[in-house]
Amino acid sequence: MKSIVPDSNPKPLRPAVFFDRDGVVNRSPGPGYVLDWDVFEFNPGFFEAFGAVKNAGWLVVLITSQKGVGKGLMTQADLDEIHGNLQDSLRAKFGRGFDGIYAFTGTPDCPHQSKPDPEMIHAAAEELGIDLARSWMIGDADRDILMGKAAGLAGTIRLLGEKPVGEGAEAVFTIENSTEMAAQLMEIMSISGD
Ligand SMILES: [Mg+2]
Repeated sequence: MKSIVPDSNPKPLRPAVFFDRDGVVNRSPGPGYVLDWDVFEFNPGFFEAFGAVKNAGWLVVLITSQKGVGKGLMTQADLDEIHGNLQDSLRAKFGRGFDGIYAFTGTPDCPHQSKPDPEMIHAAAEELGIDLARSWMIGDADRDILMGKAAGLAGTIRLLGEKPVGEGAEAVFTIENSTEMAAQLMEIMSISGD
């Protein structure tokens, strides 16, 4: 006989959109790193995309590689300041920022694994209560798409950027301009339900 035990985590899991940062949220710094908030430039259409996901009641999570910290080009405090300013900008506009920010920095004490290892997505799912099978990743590099696939997400969106699409790294949807993100996400979320 099955015994009835109280559910220690009664909140239902929620779907999320995982955003890569450089090249998706903000203009790509090319082969280098965004070392300072002064040169952090939001991509056209990002605010619309963020607002659309928030409006749908989905979680919004940032998953980023910032190896400039591990290379000594910037400090963890520099990165935290950039992400603090990012959150402040979003809170000023939407009342909420990203529900979680996960950054692989390449330092010896970094708790995270490098993309395309799905560890950062799994960490977010555990901490925020995310239904991965209904969630999506949007990124501009092979490692973002491969990470989304490895994490068992519903699908991935490729924002075409400076990097060519590698074999096996084809996304479910491909868009050519960041201004198309909101419409693409709204289409996906309307099919997926709440
Ligand atoms: Mg990127």
